[in-house]
Amino acid sequence: MAARGEARERRGRYAPSPTGLIHVGNARTALVAWLSVRRRGGTFVWRLEDLDPPRVVPGTAEAAQEDLAWLGLEWDEGPGQGGPFAPYVQSARTAHYEAALQTLADAGRIFPCRRSRKDLMELASAPHGGGGLPPYPASLRPRRLEAGWYARHLAAARPDAALRFQVHDGLVRFEDRVQGTVEERVSETVGDFVLKRRDGLYAYQLAVVVDDLLMEIDEVVRGADLLASTARQIQLIEALGGPVPAYAHVPLVLNAEGEKLSKRDDGLTLRALRADGIQPEQLTGYLAYTLGLCARPEPCRPEDLLAAFSWDALSPDDWRLPDDATAVLSQV
Ligand code: GLU
Repeated sequence: MAARGEARERRGRYAPSPTGLIHVGNARTALVAWLSVRRRGGTFVWRLEDLDPPRVVPGTAEAAQEDLAWLGLEWDEGPGQGGPFAPYVQSARTAHYEAALQTLADAGRIFPCRRSRKDLMELASAPHGGGGLPPYPASLRPRRLEAGWYARHLAAARPDAALRFQVHDGLVRFEDRVQGTVEERVSETVGDFVLKRRDGLYAYQLAVVVDDLLMEIDEVVRGADLLASTARQIQLIEALGGPVPAYAHVPLVLNAEGEKLSKRDDGLTLRALRADGIQPEQLTGYLAYTLGLCARPEPCRPEDLLAAFSWDALSPDDWRLPDDATAVLSQV
């Protein structure tokens, strides 16, 4: 799965999950991803991350494409228009995820795990923050895996185990284009993480890494809420023999209460703003202002921002919207 020998093309991507309508925060991240790749004269890839069927909301994949086209962000490869790395829809790419799991099994980097979430919560002897699971303890790894275990796992009519990635205990360090130097010891924060659930669902961590590698993405631009996944993804990329892309985690847009935008902020979806008469140039101009790309919010098109785009302009702080956001946008 290593990159081809020749110099790599410049390729960026936008990878939404079709779980709701695009809001101003998603649009801001997409705008930055688009600006960065266009500024580099590269290719912009759209990938649909629809691997979690219960969370998929019908119609939102098409709506996202329409909404970002309305904003003026055009892409070169993606669902609907195809491209050299098709398909661009994760639910149609499971053979690639299986091939990656086989590679990891051959390298001795995955193991079956039959413990439930409840078991793991109970096993935690020390209190841990965040209400989530404690790091998966290395002591729970199988001491020895029998030869042929993976072939038997695959042949089972109903596999009774999840597959976990065995992390190394070194420090992962990377330079984020917005957040600066990031360091994480995954063995202490998360431990061995799941790549395929017992019910057969592929984990986001596996799919995103395999797709970014195969689609030859050299720069990953996404929301800062995914910063905490990056060290895990780097370990996985390295285990698959691929080059690590550059990363840029764009700060989030918060509502007037200082919370991450959610379903409750449905007035801040691109659909709702459009229905309120906001023009794409007004939204782009406001987003550019929040990104530090212009001194005042003024109507503009994404391509007008190419000359000013620079990672140095971007603040690593989240952007909090005023409570009259729609009125503010209508005055841009
Ligand atoms: N599909 C993810 C989301 O919509 C983004 C994944 C990524 O950019 O790595 O939050």
